[in-house]
Amino acid sequence: MYERIAAGEVVERPANAVKELVENSLDAGATRVAIEIRGGGADLIRVRDDGVGMDREDALLSIERHATSKLASIDDLDHLLTLGFRGEALASIAAVSKLDLVTRARGAPYGVRVAVQGGELVSADDVGPTEGTAVEVRELFYNLPARRRFMKGPAAEGAKVTEAVERLAFTRPDVHFVYVSGGREILSAPPARSMQERALAILGLEVARHLVPLPAPDPGARVRVAGVVGRPQLARPNRGQLFVSVNGRPVDSPLVDEAVRGAYGELLFRGRWPTAIVDVTVDPSRVDVNVHPTKREVLFREQEAVAEAVGQAVRAALAAADLVAEPRVRATAPAGDASGGQAPGPQAAGSRQLDLAGGMLDEDRLRRAAEAGGIAGEAVEWKDLGTMPSWLASLRPVGQVLDTYIVCEGEDALYLIDQHALAERLTYESIKASAARGRVKGQRLVEPILLVPTEAQLESLLRRRALLDSLGFSLDVLDDGRVRVGALPAVLGSGEGRAEVEALLQDVLADEGATTVDAKEAVVRRMACHLAIRAGQRLDPRQVVGLLRGMAGSSDPLACVHGRPTVLRIPRAELERMFRRDE
Ligand code: ADP
Ligand code: MG
Repeated sequence: MYERIAAGEVVERPANAVKELVENSLDAGATRVAIEIRGGGADLIRVRDDGVGMDREDALLSIERHATSKLASIDDLDHLLTLGFRGEALASIAAVSKLDLVTRARGAPYGVRVAVQGGELVSADDVGPTEGTAVEVRELFYNLPARRRFMKGPAAEGAKVTEAVERLAFTRPDVHFVYVSGGREILSAPPARSMQERALAILGLEVARHLVPLPAPDPGARVRVAGVVGRPQLARPNRGQLFVSVNGRPVDSPLVDEAVRGAYGELLFRGRWPTAIVDVTVDPSRVDVNVHPTKREVLFREQEAVAEAVGQAVRAALAAADLVAEPRVRATAPAGDASGGQAPGPQAAGSRQLDLAGGMLDEDRLRRAAEAGGIAGEAVEWKDLGTMPSWLASLRPVGQVLDTYIVCEGEDALYLIDQHALAERLTYESIKASAARGRVKGQRLVEPILLVPTEAQLESLLRRRALLDSLGFSLDVLDDGRVRVGALPAVLGSGEGRAEVEALLQDVLADEGATTVDAKEAVVRRMACHLAIRAGQRLDPRQVVGLLRGMAGSSDPLACVHGRPTVLRIPRAELERMFRRDE
């Protein structure tokens, strides 16, 4: 009984068991780890690997307490973290479950299957040639009813397992992870060459594309920090996307968490946590692990040095993460030249990947900009623009070309801004901001607009009435089936661009938004698209400045609502290459 309770302390819930089993697989040199759970891990946990495996003797030993094979190397400081439980994990799990261990030592002709129930050996039979090791844990805590009752439902326990698996998968991008819960594949992460690639498999494209790498650590440094950090817009109200490991092991470290967050400074809204995957490497003798067996919190001997190194790495990554898109410009060969367009210089050098990521602006600034009236401003001085990312603060508008693009000179670069893409973004944000604050203000029309909808459109309109209402439209259905538009959202201006408004409404009515949220989003996008300054429209300097000012307040000024870039930068170096001045 004492044994069982002690085991219950080490293995508190399925997620702990999964973590221990997977770490054993990784210790065994696995290149592939497959995890399966059922009932959130309470009914079944199965971890299979292709690691070195065990021979019969080791297999029998592995389920006994304090029988770690790693004890031999306890002096080896590298293993200090590995020895989280000093040879107790497998025995602890076996003491409180029905455990089946199938393993074969690499090179051996056959393997062994060891069955344990509540810590008692049931059988140990030779089996055919299996690969690596498979540990199956059934009915966790079946002999500790109090502990079993303590577990939450399958969904909650399963979520904790998922988190544990994700954390482990981030520590070893080179290892193939597959994770199935309740028969459903939750994660499939093939071996990755970079942390971004691993993040793509775990967190998805939308997150991965907003991650920037930490600078490569100096191999000689006492504290080495590696990983990727998310742009501010990936911030969350909790630490759910903050993955910290120390010496390659997932750990809890409030110190590192705070150091990462602190490095964002004002870029993060108060109380928010960034998305980041950070590994800290230190001399293992300078860390104390295992303050608590199930939480694995670490305590650094040199707290300040660690916090400083983490902060510095994250700040460097964010500072280097200039977020403006740079096109791959190709020099155009003069007309008639048979050789055609030729890429200037080697493609890789200097031509960065097109990056449509968002800006480093906080919600506060967006709010201020929205309150200031967005883009519909009077002429402003550049000095009024306040604090902005350096590249934006330095923009000096030079003029408008092709009635479509605003040309600016910036720090050592030429900037081209798509006026419609930018205006659309700003209109969208301003409508959304006022919609979020309550309802969008409507403005009565002196001369109402009359629409003649089809039957389907009319039905769509009636369904969407409350929504349109909240966005500032006032619509009445007349007896003859026509629709009278008495008021429009104030942002649309009054009556100006009537044809545009009509086209917008036709568009909205034709749209089949699935849910209310979708519908609202769709309408706001359509409004933005129809109302924004269009391409092909000559702008006066006042309008240009208004747009740029709005840009400074935008939460994501670098992508229009359709995800196209709003701004392109051609650095001086790129121009020099195009004009072959660098030769
Ligand atoms: P520890 O990992 O701290 O040594 P464990 O109880 O987790 O203790 O494991 C006991 C021993 O069983 C390990 O030291 C290792 O030799 C062996 N072992 C456990 N899991 C595996 C595995 N998946 N592949 C190979 N050997 C394993
Ligand atoms: Mg272990």
